[in-house]
Amino acid sequence: MIRSGEEYLESLRDGRQIYLGSERIDDVTTHPAFRNTARSFARLYDRKRDTKFVDLATHEKDGERFSNYFLVPENQADLQKRADAHRLIAQWSYGLLGRSMDHVPSFITGMVMKPELFAGNRPEFADNIVNYHNLIKARDLFVSYLVLTPQGSRNPELYKAAGRRNPAMQIVSEDAEGVTVTGVKTLGTSTVFSDEAFIGSMIPLGPDQIDEAITFAIPVNTPGVQLWVRDSYEAKAANRTDNYFSSQFDESDAVMVFDNVKIPWERIFVYRDVALMRNIYFETPGHIMGNHQSNWRFAEKMKLLTAVAHKAAELNGVIGIPAIQQTLGKLAAGEASLLGLLSGQIGSYETLPNGKVHINRRYLYAALQWCAQSYFEIAEKVREMLGAGPFQLPANASILQEGPLRDTYLENWYSPGSDAEERYKFVKMAWDLLGSDYAGRMTQYEKFYGGPPHIMDMYSYLNCPWLERRGTIDEIMANMEEGANG
Ligand SMILES: Cc1cc2nc3c(=O)[nH]c(=O)nc-3n(C[C@H](O)[C@H](O)[C@H](O)COP(=O)(O)OP(=O)(O)OC[C@H]3O[C@@H](n4cnc5c(N)ncnc54)[C@H](O)[C@@H]3O)c2cc1C
Repeated sequence: MIRSGEEYLESLRDGRQIYLGSERIDDVTTHPAFRNTARSFARLYDRKRDTKFVDLATHEKDGERFSNYFLVPENQADLQKRADAHRLIAQWSYGLLGRSMDHVPSFITGMVMKPELFAGNRPEFADNIVNYHNLIKARDLFVSYLVLTPQGSRNPELYKAAGRRNPAMQIVSEDAEGVTVTGVKTLGTSTVFSDEAFIGSMIPLGPDQIDEAITFAIPVNTPGVQLWVRDSYEAKAANRTDNYFSSQFDESDAVMVFDNVKIPWERIFVYRDVALMRNIYFETPGHIMGNHQSNWRFAEKMKLLTAVAHKAAELNGVIGIPAIQQTLGKLAAGEASLLGLLSGQIGSYETLPNGKVHINRRYLYAALQWCAQSYFEIAEKVREMLGAGPFQLPANASILQEGPLRDTYLENWYSPGSDAEERYKFVKMAWDLLGSDYAGRMTQYEKFYGGPPHIMDMYSYLNCPWLERRGTIDEIMANMEEGANG
């Protein structure tokens, strides 16, 4: 099934408990802090069905259509189909919706490529993850995830010594129907806009955190679940001209609070196994398949940023200066390198013993590391291109309405490369992307979306064939010995 945007919006009107500060939000599809972003996600659903894109974003199996990001890949062509869907979804949202509907399902698709790993915990968990994948695929569901524990729970010695309760979500009891959990999980980007939340831990837990060791998925409106969201940039956006992106692409981040929530056994994938809870991401293609989406998303954002830099240079009349062209060239080189890595991820795909294929692990981690570590510098370079422009403009777009003030504005605020109206619209759009509160969140997101920065390097460290590399050194050393006498 491929859902329509309207069907998707209808599914969000399900009584979910969301708190914006102390305000209870009844309906994200109508509330001014969320409604435009909800519509942006709905538009993505509609576009996937559009006759222009349906063959690139979806595939047919046994007479039914499914979104490509649910496709379990068996050859390079399948990987390409998945990539086409990621690229389109990212393109339609300019790479600004990190946890779009193709992100978490890609993790789950990677996990079902190795269900036997789940069976190692309990035989029925292999069926649970496969059945869950079939369910979200059949109903075209939007799944987000919260796979981190709150900061207060990181060090058991500290909270125990302080006599505090561990705030992390943990198992309270179990019976024939399922398991009851209570506590807090972080950080659900897009969770207020998703149908389901996948809950687990991607960071290692200690053996004394066994009560936290449970991985499952539930509908966001499950009784006892609350979402506490951060401040909304969409709510503060003045209008489409002054805040083009934050007014409609504010995916939201939420902490999930569980108050004695009952999780049915069939929705549980890992139970009381601290090591497996983390391994399901890394010993299956889950983590790399999910982050392949992140790479495509970043590539589309790179295209937007390079375009903004080029237009800013033209508008400010500095595009002919060699130093500026050099900066633009560096940005273009970064964008092309990422696209090259993405192409390599598919071209140099890897095959599992069961014949399923996944994208190249090393190229994925190289790209992930580059994206997380480069965004700040890239965004800064593009922002520099704007100079003091954002602060020379009048406060808001009301100045563009007919009247004497508009005439004064148009006569005096033009720039070497554009008239004053175009300048206003472009510079405000660029500042929303690069200098606003919304932009600040974006910078933090790009640094942390795949985990903290030191982990990014570790992924590449752990996946490099060091023995093979060291073989070259051994060969050189051996040749030296031979050469010593010859
Ligand atoms: C905007 C945004 C959206 C997010 N969306 C999601 C989501 O959808 N789902 C989800 O589950 N998570 C999400 N995350 C959470 C993300 O995975 C975490 O932020 C990330 O794993 C870091 O954890 P933390 O914030 O608790 O930082 P901490 O682990 O507390 O780290 C704090 C600082 O200390 C540094 N640090 C910690 N340990 C070390 C070490 N050993 N060596 C060197 N430096 C260290 C870190 O780099 C960081 O600078 C999101 C985060 C952000 C910012």
